This record gives sequence, C-alpha cells and structure tokens, in this order.
Amino acid sequence: MELDNVYDKVISCSKCGFCQPTCPTYLVSGLEHEVARGRHQLVRSIIEEKLPMNKDVKNTIFQCLMCNACYTNCFPKIKTDQVIARARYEYIKRFGQPQLQRYIFKYLLRHPDTLGRFLKMASVGKRSGISGLVQVLRILGWFGKNIANAEKLLDKIPFKSLRERADEISPGQKTVRGKVAYFAGCGINFANPDIGLATLQVLKQRGFQVEILPNYCCGLPAYAYGDLDSVKWFAEQNFAILEQTDADFIVTDCGSCTSFLKEYHRFVNPPDKGDRIERVLNRVIDFTHLLADTEEFAEYKTNDDKQKITFHDPCHLAHHLNEKQSSRKVLSNLPGLDFVELNESDFCCGGAGSYNIAHYDISRKILERKLNNVESSGADILATACPACIIQLAWGVRNTRLPVVVKHISQVVLEKSIQGK
Ligand code: SF4
Ligand code: SF4
Repeated sequence: MELDNVYDKVISCSKCGFCQPTCPTYLVSGLEHEVARGRHQLVRSIIEEKLPMNKDVKNTIFQCLMCNACYTNCFPKIKTDQVIARARYEYIKRFGQPQLQRYIFKYLLRHPDTLGRFLKMASVGKRSGISGLVQVLRILGWFGKNIANAEKLLDKIPFKSLRERADEISPGQKTVRGKVAYFAGCGINFANPDIGLATLQVLKQRGFQVEILPNYCCGLPAYAYGDLDSVKWFAEQNFAILEQTDADFIVTDCGSCTSFLKEYHRFVNPPDKGDRIERVLNRVIDFTHLLADTEEFAEYKTNDDKQKITFHDPCHLAHHLNEKQSSRKVLSNLPGLDFVELNESDFCCGGAGSYNIAHYDISRKILERKLNNVESSGADILATACPACIIQLAWGVRNTRLPVVVKHISQVVLEKSIQGK
C-alpha cells in the first residue's frame, strides 16, 4: 500500500494536541478528524487495517489545506502535507482520478502553449461577459458545480502571459551583481503577469542579469490532489531545465513554487543524486529572501504621510520554509511606509491553490478570519508573496469592500524604489 511510506510519520504523533490552535480547518469545524492529530490517526488506522480506505474517509483526507501550520507547533515535526499527499495518492489509485484533473495534470499543464491559448479565449469571454465561454472551454470546469465560484475569484483573466510581455521590462543597471534564473510559476505567468514584470524589473534595477527559464508548472497543484506520478514528471522536466542554468540564483516570486522546488529531492533520482540535487536546490531562493540578503537599505527621512502596510505570510514560506523575517526586513526599510504586524499573519488565507474552489464554504470561513485581522491592523496596503494568496485576498477585499489594497511585495518594492529616488 502507498500509505506504508508514511507509517513512521503517523506513529510518531504523540497526540499532544499542540496542533489544534493553529489548524485552520479545526478552528472552523471543531472536529477532531479535521486536525493533524485526527488525520494522522485515521491514516494510521487504515495502514494497520483497523479501518478500510473507503469513500467515508474522503473529506478527512481532502479537506486538509496542506498548510503545515500544525508542523510549526509539532515537537516530532511531522510534515502533515506528506502524509496527506500519500493518502490522496492511495485514494485516487483506489477510486480513480476525476477526469478533468487527469486532463489538467497529465495534458494541459504539460503543454503550456495549449493552456495559454485556452486562457486567451477565456480572457476574451470574461471581458465580453460571455462567462459561459469559460465553462464551455472547461478550463475551470474541473471544479464541477463550483465553476461559478471559480470564475468570480479572478477579476479579469490576462490576455497575455508574462512570457509574452517580457519585452516590457526596461534595461537594468550596467554593473552586474549576479545572474538570476527566473522560474515563472503558473499563477504569475498566466494569472498575474504584472507581478512577474515588477519582480523582473526590481531584479534588473538592482543589477542582476536575468534569464526567464522555459520551465513547466512546479508540480505543486498535482501534489495537492495526490497525483504523485504527475509530480514526478514535472519535477524531472524542471530539474533538467534547472540543471542547465549557470545562474547564481534560481528565483521565484511565488512562495509555493519556492518551497516545492526545494522538495524536488523527493521526486527526482538522477545518477550521483546527492551532488547534482544539492547544486541545483542550494541556488533556489525566494525573491523576498534574495532582496533581504542583497539589498543595501538606505536611511530615509521620516515622512508624515506614511502609508500603513502589513504582510500576510504565505503558508509555504512561513510553515514549509520557516521564512518570515525577509519580508519584514524589506518592508520596514522602504520609504513612505509604516510596517505594522498582522495578527495571525501566518494563518492560512484559505486560498491554498484551488482549495477555495474545491472547498468553498470552509475556505470562506478561513478567509473571514484573515480579513477581520486585516481590518484590525488598520493597514492601507496588504502585501504578500504568493499569487494564489493574492487572488484569494483580493477577492475577499472586493467582496467585503475593505479599504485596503492587496499587492505582491515586488510591486510594493518597485513603486517605492521609484518614488524613493
Ligand atoms: S502537534 Fe504533532 S505530535 Fe502533537 S498531536 Fe499534533 S501532529 Fe501529533
Ligand atoms: S496541514 Fe493545515 S489544515 Fe492540514 S492538519 Fe495541518 S494545520 Fe490543519
């Protein structure tokens, strides 16, 4: 059984319950089987054949956000996302993978040009109000009855991808501080190209020579749905691309991509595995982290018109990579901004890739908690570092009419660098 691979993890759960106060799904439902402890016990019981793997366990396995907030509080450091991914893999092996997920992971994401053409048609359909077009194309149709919710999430679907707009970036400084290979995640490339442009512009302004890698999806969406065979495919393709670059840094501006690229040692198996993987993965760094490590922060005069800014920590940065300091360092040192902490800044926003579509009601309750905290912070700008969080937070802000602007940290840095000159 596929699940046997995680037996050592689930038996190390001491059932202490320290994961309870940090688990978004538990805080929403109050149910023991919706917290790490309960999920581990369920998986353990299935492996020990005390419970059957049947359709009754589907919700417990599939409603986990894989945010790993539990891991942050867990003494034996059990990575619940790994337990859950294996459980989902086992589940779809037994009961089959929904047809449209198969199509997305085994075809569409492996052919980004086709995906790009589909999204162009969806963009035209959305702009002209022919919302049914999106449904006809079934681009978002894999979420079945939740198609209407999926469509509302995006204000607009960009017509051109980041790759198609790369020539909009102005030349950078002549002095070269280092080479960056930019990994364009799907959420940036297709849904938020403006963010990618801001990131590339900031890197060039700082004197980095930048190449955009011809990469595929990082594989995290397939992982989140338990399609570990597809994950292996994406990891192997991307690893070969990453190995070819001699850049000093492999940079993404998507916290989820950063953390998942760093997990590739679990999915690729080249000869001389250790050295080759280390050479690649040691160069992978999140945009914010790179900036915090390399920026020479200037002293700015105090300014009475400062805007208040706060930061939502994407789960993949905060809990998977334990990376929370860089964003604070960068944002606290930009002119015209007053950084304020966000209560529960590392509590999931409920976006979790496409969780907000697949589990709409739970996701909304989790988002509500996040937005209440944002409102209490009094911030004018809510920054973050993951395109999926941006989509979810911007949608929540639009719905509740909160007087706050949601931005990616690279957009904030770009604006303030220009204003601060
Ligand atoms: S904190 Fe860790 S060890 Fe404790 S109950 Fe939760 S998962 Fe188990
Ligand atoms: S990964 Fe997140 S949702 Fe899943 S059990 Fe852990 S804290 Fe709860």
